[in-house]
Amino acid sequence: MTPTIDPKVPPQHDLPTPDPESPVRSRKPYRFSTLCATVENPDQKDQYGSSSVPIYQSATFKGVGNVYDYSRSGNPTRSHLEHHVAKISSAAHALTVSSGMAALDVILRILKPGDEIIAGDDLYGGTNRLLTYIRSHGGVIVHHVDTTNPSSILPFINPNKTAMVLLESPTNPLLKIADIAAISKDVKERAPDAIVVVDNTMMSPYLQRPLEHGADIVYDSATKYLSGHHDLMAGVITCNRDDLKKQMAFTINSVGNALAPNDCFLLLRGTKTLALRMDRQQATSQLVATYLHSLGFRTHYPGLPNHPGREIHERIASGNGAVLSFETGDKEMSERIVGGARLWGISVSFGCVNSLISMPCVMSHASIDPATRAARGLPEDLIRLCVGIEDPVDLIDDLEHALIDAGAIAFDGQQHKYTRVMPSTNEELNRAVEKLGLGEADEQEWFVSAPGKVILFGEHAVVHGVTAIAASVDLRCYGLTTPRNDRKLSVHFADIDNFYHEWNVDSLPWDAVTPIAAGQEHPDILDQTLIDAIVAGPLSGLDEEAKHAKTAGLAFLYMYLMLSHSRRPAINFTARATLPVGAGLGSSASFSTCAATALLLVNRTISLPPPPQPASTASDSSAPHVHISHQGRRFIPPSIAEQVNKWAFVSEKVLHGNPSGIDNSVAVFGGALAYTRAGLAFGGKGGMEQIQGFKSLKFLLTNSKVPRDTKKLVAGVGVLKAEEPELVDGILKSIQSISEEARRALADPELSRTELLSALSALIRENHQHLVTLGVSHPSLETIRTATAAPPYELSTKLTGAGGGGCAVTLVPDDFEEGALDKLLAELVNEKFVPYLTSVGGSGLGILSPYTPPNLAQPQPQTAVPSGQVTPPETPGLVQIDAADPLLRLAFEKQGLSDLTQWANGLGRWMYV
Ligand code: PLP
Repeated sequence: MTPTIDPKVPPQHDLPTPDPESPVRSRKPYRFSTLCATVENPDQKDQYGSSSVPIYQSATFKGVGNVYDYSRSGNPTRSHLEHHVAKISSAAHALTVSSGMAALDVILRILKPGDEIIAGDDLYGGTNRLLTYIRSHGGVIVHHVDTTNPSSILPFINPNKTAMVLLESPTNPLLKIADIAAISKDVKERAPDAIVVVDNTMMSPYLQRPLEHGADIVYDSATKYLSGHHDLMAGVITCNRDDLKKQMAFTINSVGNALAPNDCFLLLRGTKTLALRMDRQQATSQLVATYLHSLGFRTHYPGLPNHPGREIHERIASGNGAVLSFETGDKEMSERIVGGARLWGISVSFGCVNSLISMPCVMSHASIDPATRAARGLPEDLIRLCVGIEDPVDLIDDLEHALIDAGAIAFDGQQHKYTRVMPSTNEELNRAVEKLGLGEADEQEWFVSAPGKVILFGEHAVVHGVTAIAASVDLRCYGLTTPRNDRKLSVHFADIDNFYHEWNVDSLPWDAVTPIAAGQEHPDILDQTLIDAIVAGPLSGLDEEAKHAKTAGLAFLYMYLMLSHSRRPAINFTARATLPVGAGLGSSASFSTCAATALLLVNRTISLPPPPQPASTASDSSAPHVHISHQGRRFIPPSIAEQVNKWAFVSEKVLHGNPSGIDNSVAVFGGALAYTRAGLAFGGKGGMEQIQGFKSLKFLLTNSKVPRDTKKLVAGVGVLKAEEPELVDGILKSIQSISEEARRALADPELSRTELLSALSALIRENHQHLVTLGVSHPSLETIRTATAAPPYELSTKLTGAGGGGCAVTLVPDDFEEGALDKLLAELVNEKFVPYLTSVGGSGLGILSPYTPPNLAQPQPQTAVPSGQVTPPETPGLVQIDAADPLLRLAFEKQGLSDLTQWANGLGRWMYV
């Protein structure tokens, strides 16, 4: 194929020479457009010699033992169409069904439960949806891989399990190319029974015939180029193998999704002009792509010299098609361009004689969340053009008007031509950020942190439908991922007996993974097959004593395998916490949040928004306003926070079985939340709600270090409720009022700080008294309560949480005298308790900005602790790490625990939810 397509020279194809062959002068095979226009089936001669195939609008046919009896099984108009489609596809068989998706459905029914599919990671959305369905309902395992790199599918090919490989090339709308020939060869060599299926919609049989490159089944949404007029829905399937044809024809006859006679007629008519339309459409596409490219827009079209898959595409296809896309660098500018076009109709789909324009991120791909779109490299400003048969001059003229009106190009008097106007959001900067956030994640360390939580009001009662108020506590877990260059995955849980373990990435149980397709969420239920495979595989050799580390490892490996199936990064993950582990302060949720965030970042499932504009640009009044949140707060957008929260919840499920979800929500969102169990709500609806305007409060947290069995305590309250329902119901009602009162007070902007503190003090005392009556306190907690309530302190204390390590929270007024506080702390330490002075209601998930390198040169803070602060004990001897390891890991693992927060804060700019 020549780089540019000359529409006047139709490509030659190895297609059948028409019968009869002349004995005197050999005939050349008919060329494609001749084949398209000539609808002839020697086995189906029309009795009247009609030039156009008649529509047999008949459901039944009379007689017994004839070729046709019932249109679900066969219809003469359909037979004509199928014969014709097979001919132009150089296929032995063709089948036609009611839509492109129906075609895929018929093909997928070849599979059995337990079979595995390897599919692209950038597929048409409807294809993803159907694959997700058969995965959850048909027991079929789907691996999504980057098919633009043929070697990326190799690790997934399993001769005993791989039943199908599903490809699209080029992809829509980024026009990425998969080497159908090389992949088919690899699959046949390694798994001879697997079938290679290609969705050929973007090309049509005119430009690409994958059966000639080793594919077993090809399907097209004939709604597009084959019909060409957007006046019908249809799907066609072609293949050479008799057995596959028989199996698929059986399905079509069984389910009844064959194409109806009227649509067969329309599709047959459409195919006659396929070559003619495509020639014109792709010739104009080349002109449009060249025009946009020459203006300096980043343009995606295989016909452009800089297209990355161009060489492969030229080998497997004979034209570049009529879909292209380009980036403007500014989403709003793109919206103006799309809105300003007149000849280009704003519509989804493609393949029509009329030209269409769309913005995939707000139209066809809007259902995929922004973070996933970003991870798939789909720019928000992308404009897709589907070129029709209108005059190219009119089309380019219309596009030029739209570009001028949108301010994307302007006339340059010196150059005497239109030139591109760079968008004010600075495309170069965005590209650099894209590279940082996406392209180079493998070489990067990601440092994240998340807070613990305290239940301020409503613990235990929450089990019975009462609202609980939980708030973040300023004691955090920190997680760091560091790339490794030895194909190993390692974890280091510093606070769980300094546990360290490593595995070969390739030895992990990848076979057991059913990856989540792009844009899809983890199902509600954990994948027990994967859990079993992790326990029996990577965790099997570990000591029984390392029970807690094993559980944390299970949660981490579960997420790693689920999220990394296509990238399989070699990394180390180190977690450290300034918060006591197992004390009921949400240490597990803060760990889950850190691990989820780090894995989502490493795998590019989430990417951070661009950094704030430098001050000089921000002060430029023409530049768009960029919201720089205070101290990095609210920098992480809600869509990312929600995605992290969903995975943190998955991790919590692995760790705890049936968690409420409140701990991970506090760890991600920070501040304070009101939570009521759905279905049990005490006088209101269930759910979780952020308490807006929550004011950070100073609390003393005291760990009594008395281990408490949460399940037993909860069960005890249940027994009491059964024995003395009136007493317990009365208490629950009172606790509900306490929670409501606290919630109102915390969010009330009118309340002065002193009024708020005194209201909360009273509620704390009251709530604690109810918990005592419910029998969930214990002597150590009472000792703490008495010590803090005694003069001169006169502070209010309550137990917190439903069990855990038995902690008490004491509200500390802002003006509480420092000397008194020191004295109280000393008393508590004397009693062998561990007190932490902390604030409640601060930031949630934090990510150290990747836009500035970490400030490792910063002087290390001395071990001096701010007045009155008592810190958790040091982590015992740290794991020896290789000096060649990147600096941040080295420093992180060596840093004293008492300084960890201060050290982390000094590293650079932290960005928070
Ligand atoms: N495959 C691709 C590449 C598509 O673009 C589409 C539809 O847009 C389909 C399959 C599904 O085809 P249909 O809409 O005819 O069911």
